[in-house]
Amino acid sequence: MAIDLVLRRDWQARERHGDYTQLDSTKGVKVHYTGGRVDPGIVGDHAVCVSLVRSIQGYHMDGNGWIDIGYSFVACPHRKVFEGRGLHHLPAANGAGLNSGHYAVLGLVGNAGLVEPPDGVLHAILDAVEYVRERGNAGKEIKGHRDGYSTDCPGEPLYAWVKRGAPRPGGTTPPPNPPTAPPFPGRLLKYPPVMRGEDVRTWQQQMKVRGMEIDVDGAYGSGSRDVCLRFQREQGIDDDGIVGPTTWRLSWEAPLT
Ligand SMILES: [Zn+2]
Ligand SMILES: [Zn+2]
Repeated sequence: MAIDLVLRRDWQARERHGDYTQLDSTKGVKVHYTGGRVDPGIVGDHAVCVSLVRSIQGYHMDGNGWIDIGYSFVACPHRKVFEGRGLHHLPAANGAGLNSGHYAVLGLVGNAGLVEPPDGVLHAILDAVEYVRERGNAGKEIKGHRDGYSTDCPGEPLYAWVKRGAPRPGGTTPPPNPPTAPPFPGRLLKYPPVMRGEDVRTWQQQMKVRGMEIDVDGAYGSGSRDVCLRFQREQGIDDDGIVGPTTWRLSWEAPLT
């Protein structure tokens, strides 16, 4: 899903009071919260988001004396991303000396009222992150304001999410790659006589991983054959005590019992 931008004219941003400092690239993004109370009613009414962002801009300009809102972008519960200072402009919200390192993205939650970030806020933060990576030459980092700066920001719930690696809400973790056997060595491993080689050792090591009692000595003797027979019976395949292509493959790819 593409980013749903709320442009400055859409939220009726005030004109900035000076020139932005150019920002060529950053290491990534720092995540913020408002630090105040956010009306939980915001979740049901995007107009509340708009007025909150406008009041934050007013506070930053009139209270802090900044040229504009301090954030690069603001993420609201409706998965919309407000354009703050925007791409390639130095933010002001990360703290002195830390603004050139990261874009500043505010999630519209606070330390009271709406404290837990709704999924829409998390999605919108990540939409902003992807946007600055693609268009704003931002690096991979996603950090909290408190990383490297003395502040509670972005609050416990949002910071815990950042520390978890900022996952997409509701995203299913992709299943781990199924195990794949190494290529079959091209010869049948069998006994007698004793066969030696790295291929034998590789297979023995894998049998050990599967919990079999086997010497990993690179020599396929009666012990290895017995383990092979046990494994083949376990798997319900022909039990000939010979490691051929099927037994080899299943040694890695059969589910562990
Ligand atoms: Zn902050
Ligand atoms: Zn909203």
